Amino acid sequence: MIIILKQNADEGKVRTLLQGFEAQGLACHRSDGEHTSIVGLVGDTSRVDLESVRANDIVEDVKRVSEPYKAANRKFHPDDTVVSVGEARFGGLHFGVIAGPCSVESEEQIVAVAKAVKASGAGLLRGGAFKPRTSPYAFQGLHAEGLELLLLAKKETGLPIVSEIMDLSHLDLFRDVDIIQVGARNMQNFEMLKALGHCGKPILLKRGLANTIEEFLMSAEYILAGGNEQVILCERGIHTFETATRNTLDISAIPLLKHHSHLPVIVDPSHAAGIPWLVEPLAKAAVAAGADGVMIEVHNNPKAALCDGAQSLTPAQFDGVMRKVKAQLAFEGREG
Ligand code: PEP
Ligand code: MN
Repeated sequence: MIIILKQNADEGKVRTLLQGFEAQGLACHRSDGEHTSIVGLVGDTSRVDLESVRANDIVEDVKRVSEPYKAANRKFHPDDTVVSVGEARFGGLHFGVIAGPCSVESEEQIVAVAKAVKASGAGLLRGGAFKPRTSPYAFQGLHAEGLELLLLAKKETGLPIVSEIMDLSHLDLFRDVDIIQVGARNMQNFEMLKALGHCGKPILLKRGLANTIEEFLMSAEYILAGGNEQVILCERGIHTFETATRNTLDISAIPLLKHHSHLPVIVDPSHAAGIPWLVEPLAKAAVAAGADGVMIEVHNNPKAALCDGAQSLTPAQFDGVMRKVKAQLAFEGREG
């Protein structure tokens, strides 16, 4: 972090400011030019609040030269984190596949989809029991019953399950869920992230609808700071001016996140595209860009789905996508 001091700043105030930093274990390297004095702060500056430094009347400006996240930062953790659930692995050279309907609707539906996606090679079953819908009149999910039906499908197929939490008061209901999903709309629900930092379960953290890479990594930092190192990041498209797709898949987020962080990064082409035939090319693009997995919506009868039927693949379409994804992985010498 670099602090630029105001011209003719009061020396007593400068000393007090720098002593404050030194008390936090930071080293201060001061350099005085003819007109400008700068101070380089060296050490872990992630706890230094930029705004409060800037509020000092002797400070002209402050700039970060290192990232504000530490636990998620690859600089302090060069090796890839691998998250393992059941037979599935995310990170390192491993590629994991999560598939299933947008929402759990019935025993028949979830068990049929679970069997189909397992046969095509998915390692985990997804299904929303608490659905974040734009309209309060739209299907909101089966809640506790939805989680019970997911567990039933897990029992039938052996596939571990992923489901989204929308409120911390429901955390107890998720005790048998293998990966807890934090959806795009809750990416900055900081109290929830803090609590999930202590829950002892892997977390699938989806990027917010209009959040930057740095904000995304700061949200992951909340979970990691609580001691939970099992975080999978999910790029699911962001809001842009483009209306031809539901969201715009930010492909560059994949190598960027992996460059800055050791956490596994997966892609959700279903919510990014909103169009079934775009799922395959986007999934292949995700593999090519270095993603550690994909999450794809599959429904046994998309036309009758209670949520996101328009973007869901049939089991046969999903099987086709899986073949292409596996071929792409093999082409790159990676493990499926
Ligand atoms: C979902 O995965 O079901 C979902 C609601 O996704 P997102 O939070 O990315 O919109
Ligand atoms: Mn959905």
